[in-house]
Amino acid sequence: MDLIDIGANLTHDSFRQDLDDVLARASAHGVGRMIVTGASSDGSKHALELARASHGRLFATAGVHPHHAIDYNDATDALLRKLAREPEVRAVGETGLDYNRNYSPRDVQRDVFERQLEIAVEVGKPLFLHQRDAHHDFLAILKRYRDRVPAAVVHCFTDTEEALRDYLDLDCHIGITGWICDERRGGHLRELVKLIPADRLMLETDAPYLLPRTIRPMPKDRRNEPMYLAHIRDEVAKDRGESREALTEASTRTAERFFDL
Ligand SMILES: [Zn+2]
Repeated sequence: MDLIDIGANLTHDSFRQDLDDVLARASAHGVGRMIVTGASSDGSKHALELARASHGRLFATAGVHPHHAIDYNDATDALLRKLAREPEVRAVGETGLDYNRNYSPRDVQRDVFERQLEIAVEVGKPLFLHQRDAHHDFLAILKRYRDRVPAAVVHCFTDTEEALRDYLDLDCHIGITGWICDERRGGHLRELVKLIPADRLMLETDAPYLLPRTIRPMPKDRRNEPMYLAHIRDEVAKDRGESREALTEASTRTAERFFDL
C-alpha cells in the first residue's frame, strides 16, 4: 500500500522547474497521493489547478495561512468560499494561529481564522489547521466550531503533551512531519506519537520545508520533497513500536477517510 502525504506545498516556487520529477520520485518511494496545501489566495488557486491536472494523484486544500492573515479581505473570503466547493478541494485551510512569527497581528489572525472556520461549516468539509505558540487561543476558537465541521487535523503538530491531549479530546486528527527527526526541538514528539490512536494519525512532509534532519545523504539544496515521507514513516513506526507496513496501512486508511479519497 502507498503512503499519502497530507501536507505538501507543491505550489512553492522551488518545485516549479521539476515537479514531474518530484512526483516520479515520490512514486518510486511509495508515496502515491498527496494533498497540496493552499496557504494563500494564489496558492489555493494553484493547488486546485495542480489537483485538476493530476488524474487523481493530487488533491488540494483552500485557505490562508495565519502569516498572510493581514492580506485577507472580502474578495479573499469569496474566493475561498468558491474554491472550497470544488470537488478536488478536500479541506479548508491551511488556517489557524501562529504566535511564533507574528507576521500578522494576533487579533487579525484570530478574525481570519474564524472567517475560514465559517467557510468550513458552510461547505461541510474538514479543516487543515496550523497552530504554533498559540495553543490556548487556538483551542478556545476551535472549540466553538468543532461540532459543526466533519473533521479537523492539526497539521505539523509540534506542541506539548497537554496540547496533544486537548486536540484528541476535541476529536481532532494529528499530522506528524519530519519535525520528529529534529533532535534539537522535536525529540519530545518521539514519546508523544505513542499517544495518538492509529485512526487519528496522519503523516506529512510539509515539503519544501522541514527536511528531516536524519536524512542521509542530505540533499545539497536542503529541499524537502514528498519522497521523504517514507523516511518519516520509518521513524514514526520505530517510535511507536509498529512495523512500517502497519503504520503505512493505518495512516493511509486514516487519510482516505479524513479527506474522502
Ligand atoms: Zn503549517
